[in-house]
Parts: sequence; structure tokens; C-alpha cells
Amino acid sequence: MKAANARVFRNYYRQRTANQWHKIEAEVGTPDAIRPFIAGNWKMNMIPKSGIALAARIFDQCRGIKDVDIGLAPPFTGLSILGEYIKPDFLRSEYGLGRNVFLLAQDTFFEYKGAFTGEISPEMLSAIGVDRVIIGHSDRRANLGKYFGFGSSVARRLTTSFLAHELEEQKAAKTRDEQVIAALEHLVGVKPEILAGMARFLEDELKERAGESDEAIHRKVKAALAQGLQVILCCGENWEARAAHETFHLLDRQIRIALEGVSPRTIKEVVIAYEPVWAVGEGAEPATPAQISEVHDFLRNLIMDLYGEQTAASIRILYGGNVKPDNVIEIMMLSGVDGVLVGGASLRAKDFSQIIRFGLD
Ligand code: PEP
Repeated sequence: MKAANARVFRNYYRQRTANQWHKIEAEVGTPDAIRPFIAGNWKMNMIPKSGIALAARIFDQCRGIKDVDIGLAPPFTGLSILGEYIKPDFLRSEYGLGRNVFLLAQDTFFEYKGAFTGEISPEMLSAIGVDRVIIGHSDRRANLGKYFGFGSSVARRLTTSFLAHELEEQKAAKTRDEQVIAALEHLVGVKPEILAGMARFLEDELKERAGESDEAIHRKVKAALAQGLQVILCCGENWEARAAHETFHLLDRQIRIALEGVSPRTIKEVVIAYEPVWAVGEGAEPATPAQISEVHDFLRNLIMDLYGEQTAASIRILYGGNVKPDNVIEIMMLSGVDGVLVGGASLRAKDFSQIIRFGLD
């Protein structure tokens, strides 16, 4: 499809209410590349039996919906059984759904096989019917780091060695007594709030590093694509980056590194999910429509720089961060938003179905 056509299509849909969108879709259909994509990330919730029951309730409440791509991302232990359950023929006869339901993994590893205890390869995912994989979720990029207790101990060591280094300089020119006095003077001279701030900064930095790096995410993207999986590539800034006006700089880095070497042909298999870290998780405030639009425009322009106009017009960019039934329509109607990645609300059949049916109720 020509870029211009894709843009016309996109604008055409955007100018309509959600309800009209569904009607138009039903009459003329939309090119696959810009069908809305609503994905639920169950995170570390649901044993297989509860997952099947949840999926059944969601499908029941979404009967006949064919014009929205639906993704379910159970934990690894639920993938196999859910894969058996969501076969297209069964979904069509039981729920009137088409080939629009996809099984998503929440992560994958980048190596093909070997001594990587606990990891799951892209091939293993394909073998059990997984279509797509989420890569670079903020839970993995940053938040998990703190549970391994790595950040704080290293931050403490670094803070100590910073001080030791400062003191070292003074050591050189003075006698031992003078060194002690200089050291004490130095410590007294450093304001406690500066020390505390420095420790906090280091801790945050190291928490990030203890999670997945941009480079690891890049390797995962390449490995998943090589296996023929579609990738839902998450990106997003934490609150500190936004407050420091570093949002675009950070997103630019995350996307460029993740997609390095991904060819113009395989980029078609990538969906981007913008998830501001500060907006993710029950109880957080979702990003405002203006913030979402601004970032989505930025990301689309970045894709245009990297892959040209046609890809920029057709790549799907999702938003994630406290999407709920009562804000999904507003978010889905924003120009440049092609779908949503949902955490908490995807665990509640009624809420998630309402999100999938956005505008129909
Ligand atoms: C997520 O975890 O990807 C997410 C968007 O969570 P929530 O919807 O709960 O903010």
C-alpha cells in the first residue's frame, strides 16, 4: 500500500467516532497494517486454568468482533494451553471471532539454545504456537533490577569510592595527620543533601542497569524476528527523564538501538508500544492526550527517518499506561495511536472486553 493511501486511511478513521469506525471497518475493512491492536499483558498473574477461564469470558463478551486485533500475553506457563484453546476454527464457531486473536509471550531470550537456565528461546515460543512477543517492557528494562538488590549495594560502593577518590587527591600533598584533618574537613564540607542525592542518583542509575539494557533488547528483537515472530517493542521514559526534558532523547536511543540492523522488510513485523514508565501500573495517572500525541508523532517521525514514509505510515504504534474502559475511546481517537497495551485492566474480563469493543457499547 502506498504511504499516501495509508495516511488517507488513517485520517479517514481518525475523523470518525469509534462507533462509526467499527461500522466502516465492517463494511469496507482496513488494511491489516492499521487495524487497531488491543493487547493484554497479564504479567505474572493467572495459572493456566484461570487464564483459560479469563480468555473464555473475554471472548464471550467480544462475540463477532473481527475488525480489531486482540492479543493475550499470559505468563510462559499459560502459553501452551492457551495456544491450544485459541485456534481460529474454534474461535470462529464458538465466538464468531476471526483470525484476529493472537498469542503473545511476555519476553524471550536472544540465544538459540544452551546453558541459559530459566530462559526461553524464540524457537521454543514458535513451537507452541506463539505469534508475537513483547520485548523491552519497563518491568524488565528497569523495575525488576531492584528486586535483585543489585542497585543499592553497588550504589553504596560507588558512593564510597567516589569519596575515597576525592580524599586520595588530598592525601598526595599532606602528612598523615593533615590527611585525616583534610578528610574530615572534606566530609564536613560535603552537604548531607548532596551526599544523599548522589546516592539516590546512583541507585536509580544502577537499578536501570540491573534490568535489561538497550543492547540486550536489541538482540532479543533480532532473534525474535529471525524466528518469524512479530515483536511488540516497548519503549518509554521514567519520570526523572521526563522531568529533565530527556524524554525524546531517551526514546530516540531506545528505538535506534533496538532496531539497529532490522531491515526495511522485517520492520513490518514490528509494533511499537509507547509506555511511559510513570503511567504504568494500577493507581498511576495515565499520560494526557497531548503527551501521548506528542510522543507518538515523535516516534512516527523517527521511523520515517529510519525507514521512510511508507513504513512510518503503516507501522502500528500502541499506547500503554493505565488504559481503562473510561479513557480508551479518547486515547484510540488520537491521531497516530493504533492500539493499546493493557496491564491491570486486561485481568478483568469486563474491563478488557470494553476496551476491545471501544466505542461500541
Ligand atoms: C503494562 O504493564 O504494560 C501496562 C500498561 O500496565 P497498566 O495498564 O496496568 O498501566
